This record gives sequence, structure tokens and C-alpha cells, in this order.
Amino acid sequence: MQDRSLVSSLQTAVGRENVLTKKEDLICYSYDPTPNHHLPEAVVIPGNSDEVTQVMRLAYAAGVPVTPRGAGTNISGSSIPVQGGLVLAMHRFDRIIEIDTANLCAVVEAGVITAEFQSRVEALGLFYPPDPQALNMSTLGGNVATNAGGPRGFKYGVTRDYVLGFKMVLPDGRILTVGGKTVKNVTGYDLTKLFVGSEGTLGVFTELTLRLIPLPESKRTMLAVFDDILAAARSVSAVIAAKIIPTTLEYMDQEAMRLIESENA
Ligand SMILES: Cc1cc2nc3c(=O)[nH]c(=O)nc-3n(C[C@H](O)[C@H](O)[C@H](O)COP(=O)(O)OP(=O)(O)OC[C@H]3O[C@@H](n4cnc5c(N)ncnc54)[C@H](O)[C@@H]3O)c2cc1C
Repeated sequence: MQDRSLVSSLQTAVGRENVLTKKEDLICYSYDPTPNHHLPEAVVIPGNSDEVTQVMRLAYAAGVPVTPRGAGTNISGSSIPVQGGLVLAMHRFDRIIEIDTANLCAVVEAGVITAEFQSRVEALGLFYPPDPQALNMSTLGGNVATNAGGPRGFKYGVTRDYVLGFKMVLPDGRILTVGGKTVKNVTGYDLTKLFVGSEGTLGVFTELTLRLIPLPESKRTMLAVFDDILAAARSVSAVIAAKIIPTTLEYMDQEAMRLIESENA
């Protein structure tokens, strides 16, 4: 990075080992699953909200762009630092702060892996439904920033429907706290809905309060075979018209089945 004094201030803020500037390190934070890539000038790995605040203040004062990054699994190019500057890697924010079984909610840091969180709440008979396909790698902060959904969205809704509140560090370093554990939170502007899905453009999520629901007592998987697409499509409509809402409904044609069988062969 050109600005050596900024690097040195960042090192003071988060520790020397948490500021990466070598090319081989920068490459690891320059891409996502899209074919695009762009090198950041430095990668900063903060460990708490105060450190995020300091980093954002320094970058803001220097006019340097900041791109937050969870696990980099998005398929839209949104964690690629296309304007250079800093990548703010959130993987040290990995604590589940509280699972509140009395109030059916949890408070987590933004870098917690989605599937790990789901297993932890399921062990307590609770359920966090949003299931983007990348859930074994993606972070809850990344899910909230992209308003991720998945096959279970049909029955249970998407990430936005489970965000009760959050803490965010704004671009100039101010901390914004929105919502909380209250389920019936009806007064004032609905800032939660504004910030969920903002893809890192409005600030950095550091802490999230997420709604949980009771884990379904049982689950059944069914397979139905149809001779043609029209009959399969009509059955989907008939199932919904019969007021049956399955957790997921997946349609696979012969080509998809052949592909899976060849992958497993
Ligand atoms: C194989 C595959 C399948 C997928 N399937 C689905 C699917 O079924 N449904 C679906 O909705 N999505 C799907 N996705 C996309 C999915 O939403 C994202 O992969 C995931 O939510 C991103 O999480 P992440 O931690 O990897 O975030 P990243 O990819 O690192 O970041 C995603 C965006 O969030 C921002 N961001 C990350 N962390 C923060 C933070 N703490 N504060 C502010 N901004 C932040 C980044 O700047 C970026 O704009 C899929 C992705 C893959 C690779």
C-alpha cells in the first residue's frame, strides 16, 4: 500500500499481524465465485467493534474505500474490492454471544458460520431456517448483508424475516444500534429492513440479534415421479391449493438426475 502512515495507523488499531499487505495474502481476498477479481491494497482483520470503528475512521479520513468480507461466497461480485482500498475481513467475529431460549432469539457476532449457528440452536430444540446453499461456509453477517434465502424460504421466509436488530459501524466510524430482542417492534422507521440486503454499502454489521422458532418435531421426505413437466407443475399448484406448505419443493428433470448420478458414480 502506498500510504505507509495509514498502514502503520491500521497496525496500531488492530495489531501488526492483522494487517496484510503482501501480494500473496491480498490475492486470497481479491475474488469470489464470480470470474472477477481485483486486488485490495491491504486486508484488515479486526477482532471487535472498537477496532472496526478505528479502521473505518482512519479509512474515512484518508478517503480510502472499504469492502467488508465474510466468507466471500456471494455470487454477485459484491465482496470484490473493485476500487482497491481495504478489505475488512470479518472472520474473527466468530462468537455466539447468547442463545436466549426464553425469548426465542440469539445474539451473534457477524462472522459466525451459518451452519455452525444452526447446529448450536438445533441442539436446544430451536430453529434458524434461512438456508442459502453456501451455509457451510457463509457467515451470518454475509447472509444479512445479502438478505440470503434458500429452498426453505418458501415456507419460512428469508434472512430479513429473522433479523430483529443489529449493531453496525457506519462509514465514518459511528456505531448504529437498531432493534433488539423485542418481537413486536412497531414504532419508528424500520431501519432493519433498510440495512438488511445493503451488501456492505451502508456500513459493517458487527453484531446481530436473530429470531428463532421452535424446531419442527418431525420431518418427512417424499419423492414423486412424473411422466412429464406439466403434470409435475400441476401437482405443485395442487399441493399449495390444498393448503399444504412443504418446507421445500424441488423439481429435478432427467438431465439434472443424470448429472447427479454421474457425479456420484
Ligand atoms: C454455491 C452457492 C449457493 C448459494 N445459494 C444461495 C441461495 O440458495 N440463496 C441465496 O440467497 N444466496 C445464495 N448464495 C449466495 C449467498 O447469499 C452468499 O453466499 C452468502 O450469504 C454470503 O455470505 P458470506 O459470508 O460469504 O459473505 P461475502 O460473500 O463475503 O459478502 C457478501 C456481501 O456482504 C457484505 N458483507 C459481508 N459481511 C458483512 C458484514 N459483516 N457487514 C456488512 N457487509 C458485509 C460484503 O461486502 C458483500 O457485499 C449462494 C452462494 C454460493 C457460493
